[in-house]
Amino acid sequence: MKPEPDGLAPAHDGGLVLRGIGAAPGVAIAQAFVFERGKVRTPRYHLPPEKIEAEVTRLLAALALSDEQLGRIQAAAGGEAPDRLHLSGAREYRLILEAHQAMLRDRTFVAEVLRLLREERLNAEWAFRREIRRIKGALGQGGDEYFRERRADLDFLADRVVRNLLGLTVDVAIEPPAGCVLVTRDLSPTDAALLLVPGKVAGLVIDLGGRTSHAALVARAREIPTVVGTGDASSRIQNGALVAVDGGHGTVTLRPTGSVLRRLEAGRSRYLEEEVALRATSELPAVTRDGVHVRLVGNLEFGAEAPSLWAHGAEGIGLYRTEFLYLDRPDLPSEEDHYLAYRALLLAAGERPVTIRTLDLGSDKLPGAMRRREANPAMGLRALRLALRSPALFRAQLRALLRASVAGRLRLMFPMVSGLTEMREARAQLEQARAELAREGQPMAAHLPVGIMIELPAAAAIADRLARECDFFSVGTNDLIQYAMAADRGNPLVSHLYRPLHLGILRTLEFVVRSAHEAGIPVAMCGEMAGDAAHAAVLVGLGFDELSMNATSIPQVKRIIRALSAEECRTIARDAMRLGTQEEIERFVRERMRERLGDLEAESSV
Ligand code: PEP
Ligand code: MG
Repeated sequence: MKPEPDGLAPAHDGGLVLRGIGAAPGVAIAQAFVFERGKVRTPRYHLPPEKIEAEVTRLLAALALSDEQLGRIQAAAGGEAPDRLHLSGAREYRLILEAHQAMLRDRTFVAEVLRLLREERLNAEWAFRREIRRIKGALGQGGDEYFRERRADLDFLADRVVRNLLGLTVDVAIEPPAGCVLVTRDLSPTDAALLLVPGKVAGLVIDLGGRTSHAALVARAREIPTVVGTGDASSRIQNGALVAVDGGHGTVTLRPTGSVLRRLEAGRSRYLEEEVALRATSELPAVTRDGVHVRLVGNLEFGAEAPSLWAHGAEGIGLYRTEFLYLDRPDLPSEEDHYLAYRALLLAAGERPVTIRTLDLGSDKLPGAMRRREANPAMGLRALRLALRSPALFRAQLRALLRASVAGRLRLMFPMVSGLTEMREARAQLEQARAELAREGQPMAAHLPVGIMIELPAAAAIADRLARECDFFSVGTNDLIQYAMAADRGNPLVSHLYRPLHLGILRTLEFVVRSAHEAGIPVAMCGEMAGDAAHAAVLVGLGFDELSMNATSIPQVKRIIRALSAEECRTIARDAMRLGTQEEIERFVRERMRERLGDLEAESSV
């Protein structure tokens, strides 16, 4: 259904429908509890010289008070064993709270606020807000959802300090009525820590924010149906009114009655039944009719998402994008920060393999001090090339990975490898870190598989040579297609060229798989192409051993793999590659899938 331009549409019978972004699936029908934090205005004035020192004292007192409040909230959100902390919503919150505390204690940051106060004679509220604005600027102005959310986190911190300076209430001890739908304009990490308690809050509606806001992340991890980005739901919905949140479709229905209510209730029952069915298939292996096992594993950005991957049947983690560890903070993560995150994930995965990719940061995605301007960051100093230029940064991560390797079945992977030289350099740095740790007497796994991502056309072209010197490949089609087609993966103007079934891409994949197998190593795919059910037959036919995707794609891809034989998949792939245009190939694959599977593939995208 197309969204209404104003986000509001009449329901067929009873109720109004607000549209937003589905951030956590499921349906909740309950009374609304509208949580209003209210905006705080920042007073701006210049200080007379004789008031400056008193203002310094006032500022330092507000910083100390804010620090103390954050500590209290952290303590309230804690209580979990250290190894589990990285995997729970509470841990995600605590990381943000810690980052906020670190900032309040950061000498350079505080010195700059004091400079604004003393030299430019700005009042404390203004000075603090201005320095936060500068840091937000350093995070970039891009529309990237992730950075928008991090900028919002900084606003929450500024609001706290300004409220404390003004003597306003900061953390209200509200108690939402049990089983309510929480409706709010925005939800700070601290408010979320206090309010998003499973069992207490049945559903969540937020006017602002996107899928990667911390509230959304934890709502997903705790399975609280959530819709974000509704625009003005919090001013339209009255406290106590019945609302229905459909987190799968991104809709919020106000005061549903009659057939609308019945439909929503049926939707809720269906969702719960599907969840049960899905969990039932999660135990089944992804094996073709003729017995070929294709390992289905998950892509993950935050530890908190791991339980959802297991629930959807992931046999392991195929890609952990570690760059997210760098992005929530003003400074760089320490070796210990890395170590704790990796160890927690490995322990939670148990026997399952976990592929951790070293940082894929770019010049546009770095903590303030390391940022640079580059005309084309996608082709700039990013990922492995950045790591090799920043030995201290890379060393901290490699040491942490080696130390964590004893906690589970770790596989280490380098991103954006351009050729043999870079791969050898990266491996040399790994060996150096290993030797260092051995001298320190640190335990490490006896064998640590080391693989590379194939996402540059030049690397794909020498896959046969690369395969002789590493333990596995994982094809990153998001970048591989972007570079092969010269079509920016985020640019809608050229999205018509971004076609996974282009013959050039299929030939590249065929060569990569053959090269890996001839060298006796397994080959995975962790780009988005792997999670599209429409491509499953072709990828099995090409011979991929492992496909890594988002949690929700796993059951559908599994159904297709279980319904086909590897032999017929090979025929589909071979015949498809005899055709010419991408349209012909797409049509051919679609028709073959329909013949074989009826409407099973109807939900897929080709
Ligand atoms: C890819 O390029 O396909 C990939 C998985 O890496 P990322 O999306 O993180 O660039
Ligand atoms: Mg990539």
